[in-house]
Amino acid sequence: AKDQGRGLHHVYSEDLLIEASRRREMEDDLRHALANDELHVVYQPVVSTVSERIVGYEALVRWQHTRRGVISPAEFIPVAEEAGLITGIGEWVLRTAIRDCARWPAGIRVAVNVSPMQFSNPKFPAIVANALSTASLDPSRLELEITESVFLNDDGRTDRMFKALKHLGVRLALDDFGTGYSALGYLKNAPFDKIKIDQSFVRGAIQAGNRNAAIIRAIVTLATTFGMETTAEGVEHQDEIAFVRDLGCSHIQGYVYGRPERNEHVLTALSGYGDP
Ligand code: C2E
Ligand code: CA
Ligand code: CA
Ligand code: CA
Repeated sequence: AKDQGRGLHHVYSEDLLIEASRRREMEDDLRHALANDELHVVYQPVVSTVSERIVGYEALVRWQHTRRGVISPAEFIPVAEEAGLITGIGEWVLRTAIRDCARWPAGIRVAVNVSPMQFSNPKFPAIVANALSTASLDPSRLELEITESVFLNDDGRTDRMFKALKHLGVRLALDDFGTGYSALGYLKNAPFDKIKIDQSFVRGAIQAGNRNAAIIRAIVTLATTFGMETTAEGVEHQDEIAFVRDLGCSHIQGYVYGRPERNEHVLTALSGYGDP
């Protein structure tokens, strides 16, 4: 039994070593991913529950690794954040998304994810302003998605950053609401235009007796009181559309309306936009 225990311990630490070296390798590869053209951006539609039309798209980064194939952002974004590479990658995604949006009809917005590390960079508003003017995109067509974690270690800079970004005329969305360190108090002052209700609340909410529906309703009430829109994320099934609409959500994003796709696909999808 003693030997078995030691054997287990051995396997366990070996796993940790493999995990650590895999991470280091991913970090090295990520350093070259941008220069090697291995990153691209895909877009997922956001639909209004009122007009039932596409009002915008969320930009999501993809990494097509030469040897490993597609690596999920859920896996490589945390590595990029730890290695300090998210600043460069994030700026590239921002510029790409703004440039692509400038080719869409004027009624269509683009939403871009902003990592806390980018958000805390004092130069960030200037980077956003430069990207917008380079592509001649109206600032109101850009929505920046920020998570609750920016309110951790808040030293007053967060407030100034919000002001600077709102001053530019861009929209702000609070992403993955309810999954982080929700302190609610910050909602009083933070100038969000939209709250994105995390898919963990949306998934299965339709089942009778599920408390998720009550949570969604409460978030919508709060958001509406503050004049904010609400997007239900991760809506996959047809019968969930009426369900979240009846709970008051103003927007829906999920596989039911479309998976993330390349800009060529978006341009084709939007080619009839505006026609009666
Ligand atoms: P997120 O911002 O919450 O993005 C939504 C995620 O849900 C996307 O995963 C999207 O493909 C997925 N999704 C959308 N609809 C459905 C659905 O109906 N069902 C299911 N099961 N999933 C759905 P993705 O693209 O893998 O991205 C994962 C996360 O990686 C994102 O979560 C975001 O936190 C991060 N991420 C992606 N792109 C960027 C980026 O450019 N910058 C930063 N900082 N983070 C990014
Ligand atoms: Ca997002
Ligand atoms: Ca989200
Ligand atoms: Ca997320």
